[in-house]
Amino acid sequence: MKKILRVNMDSFQYGLEDIPSHYVNLGGRGLTSQIISREVPPKADPLGPENKLIFAAGIFAGTSVPCNGRLSVGAKSPLTNTIKEANSGGAAAQKLARLGIQAVIVEGCAKELTSLKIDRNGVTFLPASNSRGIGNYRLIEELKGEFGDNIAIISIGPAGEMRLKASSVAVTGPDFHIRMAARGGLGAVMGSKNLKAMIVDDRGSDGVEVKDKAKLKESAAALSKGISSHPLIKTWKEFGTASLVNVISGGLGCLATKNYSMGKFEGAEKISGEYMAELMKKRPNAQPEHRCMTGCIFRCSNIFTDEKGEVIVSGLEFETIGLMGSNCMIDDIDTIAHMNRVCNDVGVDTMDIGGAIAVAMESGMLSWGDGEAALDLVKEIGKATERGVMIGNGCKFTGERLGAKRVPHVKGQCLAAYDPRGLKGTAVTYATSTMGADHTCGNALPSPANPEYNHVAPTGQGPVSKFLQTYMAAIDSLGLCLFASLPALDIPDLQKHLVSCVSAIQGESLDEDYLMQLGTSVLKAEKKFNDGVGFTRKDDRLPEFFLEEPLPPDGNVFDVPEQEIDSVHEF
Ligand code: SF4
Repeated sequence: MKKILRVNMDSFQYGLEDIPSHYVNLGGRGLTSQIISREVPPKADPLGPENKLIFAAGIFAGTSVPCNGRLSVGAKSPLTNTIKEANSGGAAAQKLARLGIQAVIVEGCAKELTSLKIDRNGVTFLPASNSRGIGNYRLIEELKGEFGDNIAIISIGPAGEMRLKASSVAVTGPDFHIRMAARGGLGAVMGSKNLKAMIVDDRGSDGVEVKDKAKLKESAAALSKGISSHPLIKTWKEFGTASLVNVISGGLGCLATKNYSMGKFEGAEKISGEYMAELMKKRPNAQPEHRCMTGCIFRCSNIFTDEKGEVIVSGLEFETIGLMGSNCMIDDIDTIAHMNRVCNDVGVDTMDIGGAIAVAMESGMLSWGDGEAALDLVKEIGKATERGVMIGNGCKFTGERLGAKRVPHVKGQCLAAYDPRGLKGTAVTYATSTMGADHTCGNALPSPANPEYNHVAPTGQGPVSKFLQTYMAAIDSLGLCLFASLPALDIPDLQKHLVSCVSAIQGESLDEDYLMQLGTSVLKAEKKFNDGVGFTRKDDRLPEFFLEEPLPPDGNVFDVPEQEIDSVHEF
């Protein structure tokens, strides 16, 4: 029987609780958001004692379902002031699930920096003052040396300790490369609890309880087969998410470029997945295909090395390349990889930092395309210089500090690397997501399977965004990787297999409409929390410049009527 582990950092007490009826059969984002809605006052200070930090395994975690191990991290966000869930790959969720822990709720604040070790015997509180100021890479090596290879580590770098608003939470994969629950400043919440790291060791655990093993075996196999048949898989494996650079720049003309002032980047080829794949063939120890969790069948990640074979970063992804590359006019992939590494080490979101650097470039602090200066600026975050602290607090903070007029954020969070004028369904998601601008909440990309959809039409975008936001809220609750969920949008039978997997795990028969019901309940809880904070429809808007400035080369503006934007939250 799964439990909730509640840890109090004030008293160093912990307890394993039966899952109460209102959280039962939930996981991932569904669970983090329901717990926050019930247990955190909406007006709470995100970095104060009333806020709680929740780590939740998805419903599929640790089972034979493919790509099943996303870890949801949730709290009230210091970046957006909204409810927040950011999820990450890695090994932690699967290990928690095998220990029988569906969620860890961290409350209070330790007097000194502390780490937690969670294993089958319970929780050990470990003094971590000696780790103060240490970056994620060194910390992980030290913890691995101390506790062995059978652990997963969830940690923060110096940015989280400094409570910078763009700080992230790092999660190790099976091979100890870092993944990130990057968005929304949840690393700062972890820092506010004086929690440096959680070490999860599942040795000797009982494994995950599955009510109908035969049914799960059959349904998971059908799901894997169906996902693998999707054409996206081959491209993803070969070129990773960076394959989107050429598609979004050259194909759709809406790659965030020069602080969202252009949709095509001249240097796109040099930062594309195709270019990276060729480069990685020549570099020792590089891996163009890499999986961030056990059971991944896509392997969209990579290990990016330098010419000598030293690992720079794993994985180098589209959003980082867009925000730190084209959006800053930087076309040197090695420089972007090094910026990514520094962000991972200090523990900040590459997207909000990339957005902040572009705003700083537009304000004249550094020149467009000056990769060396941008890398130096990122390094300043860890040194806590005035400029570093500004950038480390993200794009909105930087814009306000510099008096910038064009600041690409919604509710405090920087947009993703898709310019909203060229993808208007995604734009509605940016505007209305309960999390601030967040493409993973509902990215409306055109697909050959849906030729009717016009991604730049001013009407019809509200329903598309609403459907995708509902679907993704369910997927994030399952703990399924987003990329494994996309084929199920094109091949509806796969949604039946998804529901059948849940049904087998929980031993209950479920409606065909289960995913939409689950997603709706998650969105309603999140919206209710945000209403309590004081957010209104006026906050569900894009910055004015997206409505006023036509995006070259196609000349699109964001022109979806407000009524349609507002329809997203009408249930
Ligand atoms: S598809 Fe990519 S992000 Fe998803 S589980 Fe595999 S490696 Fe991780």
